[in-house]
Amino acid sequence: MMRSKLNSPIPHSPRTLARWIGQQTIRVRLTAWYVLVLVGILTCFSALLYTILDHALDDQVDVQLRLAADQALGALTVTAGQVQVLQTEGETEITPLAEQGLVVRVVQPDGGMVTNSGPLHLVATPADLLTAMRAGQARFTQANLPGTDTPVRLYVLPYVIDGRVYGGVVVGQSLQPNQDVLHELLLILALVVPITLALASAGGLFLADRALQPIDRLTRAAQQISAQDLSQRLNLDLADDEVGRLAHTFDRMLARLDEAFGRQRQFTADASHELRTPLAIMKGQIGVTLNRTRAPAEYQTVLTDLEEEVDRLTRLVDDLLLLARADDQPQPLVREPVDLHALLLLVADQVHPLATAKALTLQVHIAADLCVPGDPDKLYRLFLNLLDNAVKYTPSQGQISLNATLASPAQAVVEIADSGPGIAAEQLDHIFERFHRADVARSRTTGGWGLGLAIAQSIAVAHGGSIEARSTAAGGSVFTVRLPRFAVAASSEI
Ligand code: ADP
Repeated sequence: MMRSKLNSPIPHSPRTLARWIGQQTIRVRLTAWYVLVLVGILTCFSALLYTILDHALDDQVDVQLRLAADQALGALTVTAGQVQVLQTEGETEITPLAEQGLVVRVVQPDGGMVTNSGPLHLVATPADLLTAMRAGQARFTQANLPGTDTPVRLYVLPYVIDGRVYGGVVVGQSLQPNQDVLHELLLILALVVPITLALASAGGLFLADRALQPIDRLTRAAQQISAQDLSQRLNLDLADDEVGRLAHTFDRMLARLDEAFGRQRQFTADASHELRTPLAIMKGQIGVTLNRTRAPAEYQTVLTDLEEEVDRLTRLVDDLLLLARADDQPQPLVREPVDLHALLLLVADQVHPLATAKALTLQVHIAADLCVPGDPDKLYRLFLNLLDNAVKYTPSQGQISLNATLASPAQAVVEIADSGPGIAAEQLDHIFERFHRADVARSRTTGGWGLGLAIAQSIAVAHGGSIEARSTAAGGSVFTVRLPRFAVAASSEI
């Protein structure tokens, strides 16, 4: 299938030709550049061929004229101070040369002709040849046959004896045959070059078409994938070349988009679900209360319950907002030097009353001089979530430890360990997912939405760090947060 859609007529002015090529389809563009390059190459080749042939033919004539002049000079003699042509049986050495079509002329120093033979004998001897001859020099020149355009190449060879010039030989040959050959070459080139260009254009278009066919396939396949169905893949069976790699990259991008959209859909569905249940309960409570007139104390009790529920919902909406913003803006808004030592002590102080209430032992070991770049509020939230979980999930009389050290000059490591129930191996991969609760019943009683760890992770990642969880051999859990001590860009790949 060969298609060559031209977007507009081809411009005649060379100035706009390049701009016109730029506006065409890749197929036409490739072919046009290919043809343009070929035009350049063929023009250079033709010019070179013409020049080389022209010089070669001229050189050939010059060689012949030199030989002829030498031969003619051998037939000369000087009698009584005058140059003469030697004759043997009425013939001279000059006769065969004239028969070959050369003009052979023996001249005296004053230009007077001793003999003049050959078909081109009418051509005049140019003055510069005679001047050169008198000076004892050989010389080439060119003249036209009188009354015609026929160019004749002429050569003079002086006849010198003991330093005295007695005359010379002028030989000449028509350049017309050479010009005819060159003319013929021009005709052949004028015929062959356009045919070559036409064939090359067709071939170029065909090759460009073949090379771009996979891209057409890719485009058609991509057009069939709608935003609603990102589960589709191109799955094109292409070679491992540029286009093949493009198709694979496209498929991988679709997979990432599909995953991201899926996560987003799941998040929205989970968020709606979490909001609907308490709202339905509140609506029920209000309906029952309004059923009949009640004592002020009863209204007070219901309103207090409702306020607690609204507070919980407000916290949920705040968390959702925080995650939505983190999705929108993967980098923290604020980046300032944060003293982790002071910040962690503050977090420990915050959870201390809760730990004491559950008779938990809280051990804190924080290295001094732990400074990381980041947003202090977000980092506070990250460690509060982890310590809060440790307090929430560790049964009374348990132990919680908070350790912060420098793992390397470039990394701070904070470990929060507890002697609680630990986390089952199959849950470890999921606890950082939004709305994931390892033990739904237990989380509900502790009032969690399953967003705390997701928020903690998004904060750690936004700071260029990481967070991981593991269960200890003794049964508790350990959460390890690693934070870079120098600002790094967070990855925001979908
Ligand atoms: P939640 O609001 O339910 O606490 P999180 O995102 O903070 O949500 O935690 C997700 C789940 O991970 C929790 O439901 C809990 O099952 C588990 N988890 C978190 N921290 C701990 C911990 N210190 N010990 C045991 N399980 C934990």
